[in-house]
Amino acid sequence: MKALYLSDIHQVKLIDVPKPVLKTDKDVIVRITSTTICGSDVHIIEGVIPSEPGFVLGHEYVGIIEQVGAAVQNFRVGDRVIGPPAPYCGHCYNCEKGLVGHCINGGIHGCGVTRGDLSGTHAEFICVPHADSCLRKLPDNISDEQAIFISDIGTTGYTPAVHFGIKATDSVVVFGCGPVGLAAIATTKLKNPKRIIAVEKSPARLAKAREMGATHGILAGKDDVLAQIAHYTNNLGADLVIDAVGLEITLQQGLACLGIGGKLFLVGITNKPIMIDPAYFFKNISISMGLSDLKLTDYLLEKVIAGELDLTPLITHTMKLDDIEEALELFINKPDEAIKIIIKP
Ligand SMILES: [Zn+2]
Ligand SMILES: [Zn+2]
Repeated sequence: MKALYLSDIHQVKLIDVPKPVLKTDKDVIVRITSTTICGSDVHIIEGVIPSEPGFVLGHEYVGIIEQVGAAVQNFRVGDRVIGPPAPYCGHCYNCEKGLVGHCINGGIHGCGVTRGDLSGTHAEFICVPHADSCLRKLPDNISDEQAIFISDIGTTGYTPAVHFGIKATDSVVVFGCGPVGLAAIATTKLKNPKRIIAVEKSPARLAKAREMGATHGILAGKDDVLAQIAHYTNNLGADLVIDAVGLEITLQQGLACLGIGGKLFLVGITNKPIMIDPAYFFKNISISMGLSDLKLTDYLLEKVIAGELDLTPLITHTMKLDDIEEALELFINKPDEAIKIIIKP
């Protein structure tokens, strides 16, 4: 089958690879109907997320079950499903703690042996372990496009609001309006906070942020970010900052704009240490970071079915698997033009 293969850092190509086979009787083989390029794919290609190259990339997908292991109970051939980027068993120590993204028996699709050696979704087929625990059936009236973002960038964007219990009186500031930042805006909106202030350096992406639910927009690099946030929050500061960038400047501005008891959640991947001014002690702030709560997929799917959550405005392109190298170029080099690219094997 055809698949997007990482042979070394910065070396990625569509090649022929063997079709995956069932590894245990709890696995299923899924024929991919849609897969989408994620910022994490780029982090892996560039070595920001360390890996041992020699694997197929991709972890956000929708597909149809083609083969089921003998012990699989909840799924049969032909079921249309969405699965998490990181399949989980549901019963290990970390799963029982609720941290299913850290399942001891799991891994991440498309990250190679460093993270479980699970097949990548930028391919015609994948093998999904722990199918009964981690896959979800999709209703026929929900398209691939409506569903595909909920399990990865959807849960990533929504985790901060749930983790910190956002209230209707809260002011939320989202730094960065790439796919994750935009998903954070659209999903946080489900909690109806008083304001969602988007901070972004691209006018096109800032406009997209407004379309997806931001009440205010600040153009980084042109507007005075901290003064504008103070103005929009009546000098009370932000109750929640979602940093979907992870640069020193966004982190420091994110901390600086917090109000008393403010909370910052870092969803963007940073690879440098973060300095925290001890003066924040007197503001009783909280900082959190990490992988998303993948179990939020169920709630987000309900909201998509109910017509209350629409992440399809993220889609700027739909391309064939044959053109995935071109799609990747576009995603990396033209971020204003290409937000999310759906690939159809
Ligand atoms: Zn991802
Ligand atoms: Zn587990």
